[in-house]
Formats: sequence, structure tokens, C-alpha cells
Amino acid sequence: MQFIVIAEADHGAVSLPSLECVEEARDVAAQSGHFVQVLLAGATLTAMAEVLAAHGADEVTLIEHEALSHGGAEHWLSIFEPVMRDTVTGIEADSAGEPSLCILAPDSSHMRAWLPRLALRLQIPLVSHCLQVHISANRLVFVRPTHGGNRHEQVICPGTNVVCATLAPGARGIGVADTRRRARVRRLTPDLSTETFHERRLHTLPPDPRTVDLREADRIVAGGLGVGGPAGVELLWKLGTRLEAAVGGTRVIADRGWLPTDRFIGTTGKTVTPKLYLALGISGASQHTSGMNRSETVIVVNNDRTAPLFSLADLGIVGDLHEIIPALLARLEE
Ligand SMILES: Cc1cc2nc3c(=O)[nH]c(=O)nc-3n(C[C@H](O)[C@H](O)[C@H](O)COP(=O)(O)OP(=O)(O)OC[C@H]3O[C@@H](n4cnc5c(N)ncnc54)[C@H](O)[C@@H]3O)c2cc1C
Repeated sequence: MQFIVIAEADHGAVSLPSLECVEEARDVAAQSGHFVQVLLAGATLTAMAEVLAAHGADEVTLIEHEALSHGGAEHWLSIFEPVMRDTVTGIEADSAGEPSLCILAPDSSHMRAWLPRLALRLQIPLVSHCLQVHISANRLVFVRPTHGGNRHEQVICPGTNVVCATLAPGARGIGVADTRRRARVRRLTPDLSTETFHERRLHTLPPDPRTVDLREADRIVAGGLGVGGPAGVELLWKLGTRLEAAVGGTRVIADRGWLPTDRFIGTTGKTVTPKLYLALGISGASQHTSGMNRSETVIVVNNDRTAPLFSLADLGIVGDLHEIIPALLARLEE
């Protein structure tokens, strides 16, 4: 199985979800002795090829164009359509009628704006928001959540030569980079006339640490049912602001509408790896801990000393979070 990963740059570095795609592709391609090609487009991509190589890319194509610094979906589509059309032409299904090329990309809002259009134009199927890609009985299998994340389904695409898929950010996390790995690097300067385009990006705002994507947050203040309700969540936001930390929580508080659904952590939510994870009123169910157990330092506040999450804590505080948060805020104020 041959893989082409379409990667993204974010604030001058390869985005973390893109690196997850490269690692996923590397692991599956290695089973059949194939290599991983990565396409990365942007305005300035210097040094990013090395990072992609360290995570599993064998060949990196850097597509540089000044217009990509402020362009929208139309720009990307105009660049990638001819490149991908050339690539998929001539690719045949394998002897069993299964795809022999998989195009993999992160499931980001940016990709969602143009990748489905590319798949449609190239007439190839798109399997979105996968948690895993693997080969089983010589078939390429995509695993994706269904029924609100309570079940997983397996998707296969027989009868097509090429398939496109997106990987959910945080689905696998990022492994250790092998800085000795090298990739062949090619550069493409597309001939892009932007006069007829309707979109133009005016500004990119710096992330607010409280609302930044949880997967990229260095510090997280997370709450569980112990916060007791929206007023308790308000305390989490106050503490988040004071600590310059992102606010997240367990699925049950997102299900109750106390927290936006993109801010819960765990098997069916985000997988996070912050330097600091401050957990307040969270019991430590395995569905939650699987999403945060690679945090560097974990501080747990719970009024039940037998709460399972204490087993992951570097510092454990037995007490009522409604007393501890105001006391902490007052100390931080000082
Ligand atoms: C298919 C499936 C998928 C799931 N996926 C996820 C997932 O992705 N993420 C996720 O988080 N959950 C998920 N869950 C739910 C998970 O099983 C747990 O129910 C959930 O994580 C528990 O959340 P909690 O810790 O907030 O609540 P509880 O387990 O009720 O814990 C609340 C804790 O707060 C403490 N507490 C109460 N009052 C206070 C106070 N005043 N001060 C301090 N501590 C206090 C209590 O002692 C208790 O330990 C999933 C469940 C299923 C079935």
C-alpha cells in the first residue's frame, strides 16, 4: 500500500495532526515495504522537510507559493488538483481489486474546506475522521467512530484504485522523532494565477491559551462532574485565565452542556499531552484517562481519597474544589 500524506503547516511548523498522519502512513506502508510521500504546501517551508522525515516521510515535496500565506480553499484546490491528477492517473487497483494508493490528510477545518472537492473532482472515495488505518487480510481498513462515538465502524473501499481519507487529530498521538531519518526533498513552484479567486485571508489571530485546541495546549485545567454545574465551570475558566491554561473536562460535563463538545478529553474526545494537567472533580474512568495519561505533570483535586485518578497524580489534593479553586485564585492574585 502506497501512501501520500497531504500535510499542513501551522504557525511556522508542521501541524501536529499532520505528523500523526505521517506516522500512521509509515506504520501501514512499512508492512508492505512501501514508502511514504508527503506533500506540504505553504509560503515558507524551510526546515519542515527534516521534521517530516524524522516522523516517517521518505520523500517530501515542498510546494511553495507566496499566495498560500493569505489564500483560502480555492488556492489549495488549484495547486493540488493538477498535482494529484497526475499522480493518480495510471494507478491501478491491486490484483484483488483493492486500492493500491491511499491519500491521507489531517481532519482539520482547513482540509475540510477543500479536500472533499478534490476527491469529487478526481472521482475518488473519501473516508473522513478515521481513528485508525490498518491492513487486515490484505485489505485496507479504516476505523471511524459512529453512533456519537459509542461504537466504531470499519470501512473498506473495494473496486477503487485510489482512496482518500482524513485522520482525526489526536487519534494516535505523536511518537518519538527519529532525527537520523532522512527524506528525499523536491521543491515545486506552482504557476498560480490568483486574479479570479474570491477568497482572501486577511489576518491569522494568535491563539488564546484558554480556548486554544486542547491538543496543542501546554497547560490544561480540566473539570469533571465534581464541579457541580455551570457555576463550577465558570471557576475553571477563571483559573484557566489566571494560569494561561486551556479549559477542558470529562465527557459527562460536555454531555450536560456545561462545556463545548470539542473540549472533552478521552477515548471519544481529544487526546492531550500537556506539560501540566490540573484535574478537578474528575474520578478517573479509563475512558477519560486514556486521553490524558501522557501528560507530563498531573495534579488531582478530589474530595474522595479513593478516586482512581490519584494513581496518575504527581500531586494529589484531597478536598473540596469549591474551596480549593477560590483559595488558589486568591494566592495567584497575590
Ligand atoms: C462508550 C463510552 C465512551 C466514553 N468516552 C468518554 C471520554 O472520551 N471521555 C470521558 O471523560 N468520559 C467518557 N466516558 C464516560 C466515562 O466512563 C465516565 O463516566 C466519565 O469520565 C466520568 O466523568 P467524571 O469524572 O466527570 O464524573 P464522576 O465519575 O461522577 O466523578 C466525579 C468526581 O468528582 C468528585 N467530586 C465530587 N464533588 C467534588 C468536590 N466538591 N470537590 C472535589 N471533587 C469532587 C467525586 O469524588 C468524583 O470522583 C465514556 C463512557 C462510555 C460508556
